[in-house]
Amino acid sequence: MIPAIRGTHDILPGEVERWQRVEAVSRRLFERYGYAEVRTPIIEREELFAKGTGETTDIVQKEMYAFTDKGGERITLRPEATPSLVRAFVEHSLEQAMASPKIYLFGPMFRYERPQKGRYRQFHQLDVEVFGVSDPAVDAEVVDLAWALVGELGIANAELVVNSVGCPACRPAFGEALLKALGEDVTRLCGDCQRRAGVNPLRIFDCKVPQDQPIIDGLPHSVDYLCDACRDHFAAVERHLGMYGIPYRVSHRLVRGLDYYTRTTFEILAGNIGAQNAILGGGRYDGLVKQLGGPDRVGIGFAAGIERLVLAMPDGARDDGRRPLFVAAMGEPARESALALLRDLRRAGLEAHMEYEGRSIKSQMKRADRLKAAFALILGDDELAAGVVSVKDMTKGGQARVSRDAVVNHCRALVAGGQE
Ligand code: AMP
Repeated sequence: MIPAIRGTHDILPGEVERWQRVEAVSRRLFERYGYAEVRTPIIEREELFAKGTGETTDIVQKEMYAFTDKGGERITLRPEATPSLVRAFVEHSLEQAMASPKIYLFGPMFRYERPQKGRYRQFHQLDVEVFGVSDPAVDAEVVDLAWALVGELGIANAELVVNSVGCPACRPAFGEALLKALGEDVTRLCGDCQRRAGVNPLRIFDCKVPQDQPIIDGLPHSVDYLCDACRDHFAAVERHLGMYGIPYRVSHRLVRGLDYYTRTTFEILAGNIGAQNAILGGGRYDGLVKQLGGPDRVGIGFAAGIERLVLAMPDGARDDGRRPLFVAAMGEPARESALALLRDLRRAGLEAHMEYEGRSIKSQMKRADRLKAAFALILGDDELAAGVVSVKDMTKGGQARVSRDAVVNHCRALVAGGQE
């Protein structure tokens, strides 16, 4: 056997239904909030993420699946969606094409990370982005959308954390304050942090090394270094969240692992899924569109990890509404009629199964049970001669003979009745 690549996984029946649920719930929700779907390629130019995600980020420095293709171009499997969506926004002038540029995407992302529960090398995100609105009301709306998604998926014990990382006007002063507060301690931090201190001190907050944490916990807070405009913006975001009644905590460590964030950043953490507990994260990126060659337009969005949403969702042996039918045949002439009935049922919009190997009626009924069939439709010589089908209620046990001509409509009514 040739196994799947480390850090990748198959999504099999039994689990895939939970994925479908995440997709269906989020699609409905996004459309209610006015978002339209966009699908972009999985491969992009490496420089899109070097420029977009940022040269100093762990993603770009350590985690990209980048390679030189046969034409000599540097290509990468996308590690995240935002730069791709910004590229599409600019390349197709979506600002002109859409009345309101609000877009979403579902798809696989690739990062060469150390795999563990909730962390994979190929994982899946759903991602939303809004372009061109700088009003703090839209920050709160995007957070509200994320909060609604988590709520509609039934994820309990979720915690929302928010922060403001300021803008290019006020961030340099914060960076300096970080270095000043660190002082000599910088030499006691891990090698990665010493490098971060040199290129982008904010990135020190991404550090996961346990020995570094007491030093990092004592560092200054970005909200204390905001310029007036950023301070007013953050106050308005907080006011709107209060108005919506969304509970949140301000976390000074939430700078997020990407370079492009400005002002609002946020994450939602789940209580029940282990160490990799961030189910969703996002924020505002007011300079990114311009930096990637587009017009000077602001943006804000978030990405949720679908694996982690699926992990955090309650098990709930929820009734999925399926009421399959099973067609059982006894003897060769009946088998042909059964195949025709099977096809008629499916054409009428009903889920129907049959066994093709001509096993005993007992083993066919066992199969019907395994499929959790609501009704079995039995055809034998007797039924054929009389022009009827025996319809057996698999939960209550009763059986009735229904004329072959009427049986499809009869089943439709039975199935609809069971769903009420
Ligand atoms: P990020 O793009 O790093 O802000 O991540 C956004 C969300 O994607 C996180 O909150 C996770 O839910 C998910 N995520 C990020 N990296 C991984 C990974 N390696 N495996 C699974 N999910 C991930």
